[in-house]
Amino acid sequence: MSYQPLERRKVYEQIAEQLLGQISQRHLKPGDALPPERELTEQFKVGRSSIREALRMLESQGVIRGANGGAFVVANAANPLNSSLRLVFTLDDRAGLHDLFELRRIIDCEAAALAAERRQGAHLDEMDAAIAEMEASLGADAGGDRFIDADLRFHLAVADATGNRMLLHSMEAVRDVVRRALLTVYLIPQSPESAVVEHRAVRAAIAVGDAERARGAMRHHLTRVESDVEKGVGRG
Ligand SMILES: [Zn+2]
Repeated sequence: MSYQPLERRKVYEQIAEQLLGQISQRHLKPGDALPPERELTEQFKVGRSSIREALRMLESQGVIRGANGGAFVVANAANPLNSSLRLVFTLDDRAGLHDLFELRRIIDCEAAALAAERRQGAHLDEMDAAIAEMEASLGADAGGDRFIDADLRFHLAVADATGNRMLLHSMEAVRDVVRRALLTVYLIPQSPESAVVEHRAVRAAIAVGDAERARGAMRHHLTRVESDVEKGVGRG
């Protein structure tokens, strides 16, 4: 007969862990409401203060967020990293936009190379869908946001093709911080059209499994975008 080690952790930590489990297994998805406090109290058979403490902990970690009437909903999974990176960027006054673009280049270029080695058919389909959406948004009313979303969708498809989940979340976080700068680039004549052509080149290299070419095509794309950002910011 063997004994199980006794559970020493605090009650609210165990509650938070179980809720986190529901979220990570996607029984609760971003935007879904958490069960009300009373229901949680009954299910866990604990006092309200433990439930509140668990919810406060998850909220401070950015996993859930407050909604109407004191309820909580599941936040976007990547939010904690997005908000932390934005906070670091704001607090470190020596970190500039250039640093972010350099970080983005490091992540995206290596992602493209890995994607060329690991991609599956579905990843290429997702890249194609993103490129088609970028083209469709060109010249459309309020096309900027739509274009930036489709552009992000392409880069996330490349990250997804690496199979590395942390790379995917890191890329999303960096993109979130530079989003405003990218919106100014959209307004530069021919800049969005160039992005479509450049994405096609990246996609083609990934499709034939040429890691070196995929890395180079991504570098070319991001270097061009960054120089357009400098022009855009320069114009005010
Ligand atoms: Zn792009």
